[in-house]
Amino acid sequence: MLYVVATPIGNLRDITLRALDVLAAVDVIAAEDTRTTGHLLTHYSIQRKMVALHRHNESTTAKKIVGLLSRGQAVALVTDAGTPGISDPGGILVKQVREQGYNVVPIPGVNAAVCALSVAGTTEPHFLFYGFLPASAGLRRRELQSLKSHPYTLVFYEAPHRILECISDLAEVLGVHRQITIARELTKLFETIHTCATGEALAWLQADSNRQKGEFVLLLSGAEARGQGELSDLAQRTLAVLLQELPLRQAAKLAAEISGESKNMLYSLALALQSETTPRK
Ligand code: SAM
Repeated sequence: MLYVVATPIGNLRDITLRALDVLAAVDVIAAEDTRTTGHLLTHYSIQRKMVALHRHNESTTAKKIVGLLSRGQAVALVTDAGTPGISDPGGILVKQVREQGYNVVPIPGVNAAVCALSVAGTTEPHFLFYGFLPASAGLRRRELQSLKSHPYTLVFYEAPHRILECISDLAEVLGVHRQITIARELTKLFETIHTCATGEALAWLQADSNRQKGEFVLLLSGAEARGQGELSDLAQRTLAVLLQELPLRQAAKLAAEISGESKNMLYSLALALQSETTPRK
């Protein structure tokens, strides 16, 4: 049996009774950082053998853990904070263990994204968990561009050393009018939950350097739903490109096929664009 055990993201009391029972009972605990997990175990007077399983050794350690399971041992997987496998190691191990036919049992608990969503006061029922954006500015902006028209609340993780550049890219690429909730240091002493417009977030962080410290979850309101009778950016851009090469009717028909949007609306837009560009006699 492999148990996948969620641990606290700050406050050590945010651990379930079942998680403590399992950690105390297994033969081996596979931990992302044995020192961090050591503090948690000491706090709860649990002494167990630990092995390190982190993203640099997950495949090889996974094989060793399958070996332990084959000898009838029970193993628990934990990471430094929150739920394993969520922007954390765990996926490779769980896949290998399940492929070998052993049981994997979730021991649920804290997750930083869900914790932030629970206090953001968003009324939108859907969200898209993205996790960490790329570290490079170019790739980050490209990813954000691809998320720009997504209608769901977007959930990002961010580290303190990149928070300012990330926030500034969010405003630049997604626009300054989205609602953003900055959830910082959840369950810890300096827990902060602040909601504002994307265009105001950078100034808020810069107003006090303490606000830039710690761990962050960022929640962004989704793209505004398009009103009835509006065409998407993609449909409009497609039409504009096709109009440069094709007759009006054919451009509208192809743009409708490519975008899946209304042929009549695209035809009307094509007429309007053409009358704008045709010089009047
Ligand atoms: N597996 C974890 C979970 O279930 O949430 C996430 C691990 S990921 C490596 C660490 C990131 O989660 C941090 O950089 C931060 O974005 C977020 N995070 C973790 N603890 C947090 C906290 N106490 N407050 C805000 N964000 C936190």
